[in-house]
Amino acid sequence: MKVLMIEDDSEIVETVSLAFQIRWPDAKLVSTHLGQAGVELAESESPDIVILDLGLPDISGFDVLKQIRLFSSVPVLVLTVRSEEADIVKGLEWGADDYLVKPFRQLELLARVKALTRRKSPPGEDANLVYGPLRLNPSTRQLYYGDKEISLTCTEGHILHHLMRNAGHVVTHSSLAEAVWGEDYEGATDSLKVYIRRLREKIEADPSHPQFILARSGVGYLLTKPG
Ligand code: CA
Repeated sequence: MKVLMIEDDSEIVETVSLAFQIRWPDAKLVSTHLGQAGVELAESESPDIVILDLGLPDISGFDVLKQIRLFSSVPVLVLTVRSEEADIVKGLEWGADDYLVKPFRQLELLARVKALTRRKSPPGEDANLVYGPLRLNPSTRQLYYGDKEISLTCTEGHILHHLMRNAGHVVTHSSLAEAVWGEDYEGATDSLKVYIRRLREKIEADPSHPQFILARSGVGYLLTKPG
């Protein structure tokens, strides 16, 4: 398990590093305070997860994210002092898997990292899931729409997996949050909304008039067969 941390606040790097040493001694932490070096390390070190600060001294975290997504689908957890929704949405739209607003609790960070690096599906759940024209391999997160391959981030994969397993039934916001993050948390519904929008952009013919992923206002989402 290798963690790449791109963060220019050495105090945060130190506390996170310490938290890993105590709670997750097998994890190896590689860090840099520069965005460009972070992009290079994401390629050369093949980390299992990237923890990315948005405010970096050379290039912005958004640019780092964009560049990493050109060659890697590694889970990216964004750390930000900005809690403005617009920033968070932008981060998620550029392919971040999750975000935490500073200051954060160390245990929460570790829980998010664990959720994002969960690789092993429970027994019997790594077989391909098929629903209508969609075919998903839950462990590799490869999605096929007919013959077309669609790449999903880790979180998008978890969400679609949960929707496909419950296809035809409404999945509540909290059960979806639990499937993705291991727990429901304040604000999960808003994050889900952003991920669902991204998923729709990837699989719907017209994302503003979804045919696959339908919303049940105040309740949750429903995967259904178009037409
Ligand atoms: Ca910073």
